[in-house]
Amino acid sequence: MAKIPVFKAVNVSKTYQLGDVEVKALQGVNLEVYSGEFICIFGQSGCGKSTLLSIIAGLQKPSTGEVYVRGEKLSALDNNGLAKYRRSKIGIVFQTFNLIPSMNIIENIALPLTFARISKSQRIARAKSLLETVGLAKYSDHTSSQLSGGQQQRVAIARSLVTAPWIMLADEPTGNLDSKSANEVMRLLISLNRKSRRTVILITHNPEYLDYADRIFFMQDGKVIKTQVNSKVKEADDVMKAGHVSDELKEAAGEVGAVVVEEGDVSSTSEQTATPDTADTTTESDVPMAEALESEDTDTSDVSDSEANEQKPKKGKKK
Ligand code: ADP
Ligand code: MG
Repeated sequence: MAKIPVFKAVNVSKTYQLGDVEVKALQGVNLEVYSGEFICIFGQSGCGKSTLLSIIAGLQKPSTGEVYVRGEKLSALDNNGLAKYRRSKIGIVFQTFNLIPSMNIIENIALPLTFARISKSQRIARAKSLLETVGLAKYSDHTSSQLSGGQQQRVAIARSLVTAPWIMLADEPTGNLDSKSANEVMRLLISLNRKSRRTVILITHNPEYLDYADRIFFMQDGKVIKTQVNSKVKEADDVMKAGHVSDELKEAAGEVGAVVVEEGDVSSTSEQTATPDTADTTTESDVPMAEALESEDTDTSDVSDSEANEQKPKKGKKK
């Protein structure tokens, strides 16, 4: 029996109206994401990455087309259903950390649980356990302004995990960070994927990170122009040693108008023509559905940053 994707976008388009001007942010995007996958979305600034992520997250509606979550139409949810979906099924982190400065970081992490029917002491306990997960236990009574950017992003990740979501959506989460902090955040995201099989969709500008994804969606001009399956997926520990981008990815990055230079910096070249979408390269995740469902509902507090060293590769993923 064919597996049901966690996400399926069918012919998704999004047009923004800016006065008299129509901006076609997305033009007929088709994609499928399977449970337990680590997906990177890569492409030049303005190609529609954030728009796509926000539609998947139910933050805005497509102009045409449909998004299916676990086989169910997102458009069929009413406002309550959508709010519940955003609150409990997905965790989102952005380039900006969006922490509330007047609250300590435990209160920040516990905030999304305000709407859950659990006691304050349970909320705090869960937030504390997640602070440990992201390796910041000793900062519990600090406010966000007392933390570095990288630490604040880890707090934001902990906050996004507090409702035990199925899926992590991350929109350039390392964009504002120095390379060491960025690598720590990446390591954490990879670890969440590898250890608790959480589905991760990461928008990144950094081609060095593409080697950690199971599949990469290359975007250009509002379209997914290419899907690449990584034959060899790197583990979280390698992030700290990053600095090399495989030739295969350099070539693929070139096709979406990004030039990969030594430091993993991406600068754009504008005169690129879109290549036609490749044949369906979707591979189904090796996780049986029941197992995937189970792992997605499990508590995340067992995922510790410090445990990243002990991570086991995903079954059957590495070639
Ligand atoms: P990316 O994340 O790849 O940089 P975006 O999804 O943010 O791209 O934007 C895609 C296109 O849509 C860009 O041309 C952008 O200017 C435009 N756009 C994004 N959001 C809006 C909006 N709210 N109103 C009008 N245009 C928008
Ligand atoms: Mg963006």
